[in-house]
Amino acid sequence: MTKNTTEKPPVSLLGLGAMGTALARAWLTAAHPLTVWNRTAARAEALGAEGAKVAGTAAGAVATSGLVVLCLLDDESVGATLDGVDLTGKDLVDLTTTTPAQARARAAWAERRGARYLDGGIMAVPPMIGVPEAGGYVFYSGSRELFERHREVLAVPVGTKYVGEDAGFAALHDVALLSAMYGMFAGAAHAFALIRREEIDPVAFAPLLADWLGAMAQGVHGTAARLKSGDYGKDVVSNLAMQVAGTPTFLATAEGQGVSPELIRPYFELMRRRLEAGGGEEDLTGVVDLLLR
Ligand code: NDP
Repeated sequence: MTKNTTEKPPVSLLGLGAMGTALARAWLTAAHPLTVWNRTAARAEALGAEGAKVAGTAAGAVATSGLVVLCLLDDESVGATLDGVDLTGKDLVDLTTTTPAQARARAAWAERRGARYLDGGIMAVPPMIGVPEAGGYVFYSGSRELFERHREVLAVPVGTKYVGEDAGFAALHDVALLSAMYGMFAGAAHAFALIRREEIDPVAFAPLLADWLGAMAQGVHGTAARLKSGDYGKDVVSNLAMQVAGTPTFLATAEGQGVSPELIRPYFELMRRRLEAGGGEEDLTGVVDLLLR
């Protein structure tokens, strides 16, 4: 081992799927002593050749380092992997995608087992790991003290954003952003369907769409300000009454192009309900409240 290697904090990583393997390589590249474990042992071989210590069991990997990072398929696989493993005094960082409720339950479970717990939600795909300019990061929530203690090590593979002591908040932020992404993809799918049968080059259309979505995305700041103040009529540029009046044009265009309105119609329906409830001078902010059960 070089002097540099011994100076860096050791990490144990359980789970060597696509994401776990990318994380492992980043820590190895940064010369952190790394112990890895994977249920299917063959997936650890390449990393062993690259300098990782390969543990034969999950318990062995956990025992090797104070900091234990989990990157498994789902919460159930975390429970199965750590079943019966001594976690006393360990700092667990769980990057496995879960629901907020699962993360909170897992934090309480870890505490009962004598471990500290930090949950993570990864906002990156494997090729973004170890590539700072790619802009990926991980949301963290749970023990702030744990986050501060391991902040530098956790920042090696990808950026970090701490979002609160509630262990469920990382998962909640993760799912909230991804949910918005699916809404955006739904809108893009509808837009591509509208032009699909025309002599419009989708490759030429794509930058127009991306630029428009990017510009319109800035509207979330106004929505946030209105949600915070409770004044949904403040600084409204395009009021709801005008926007609802325009929806027949969108539906008729879809009809004319032979495109199903099934992706956009539910949103238009919420807009109409808010208008009927007296929100005509607002913008689209009131739709948020209609979704709350
Ligand atoms: P993979 O499907 O590539 O790997 C899954 C990992 O979980 C493997 O190491 C697998 O082991 C292990 N595993 C599954 N079930 C069990 C079990 N019952 N007991 C023990 N180990 C088990 O997934 P990724 O690496 O891509 O994803 C890992 C986590 O990262 C997931 O929670 C995912 O949502 C999250 N994530 C992934 C992203 C991505 O783009 N890949 C993006 C953001 C988050 P084995 O090799 O033995 O099957």
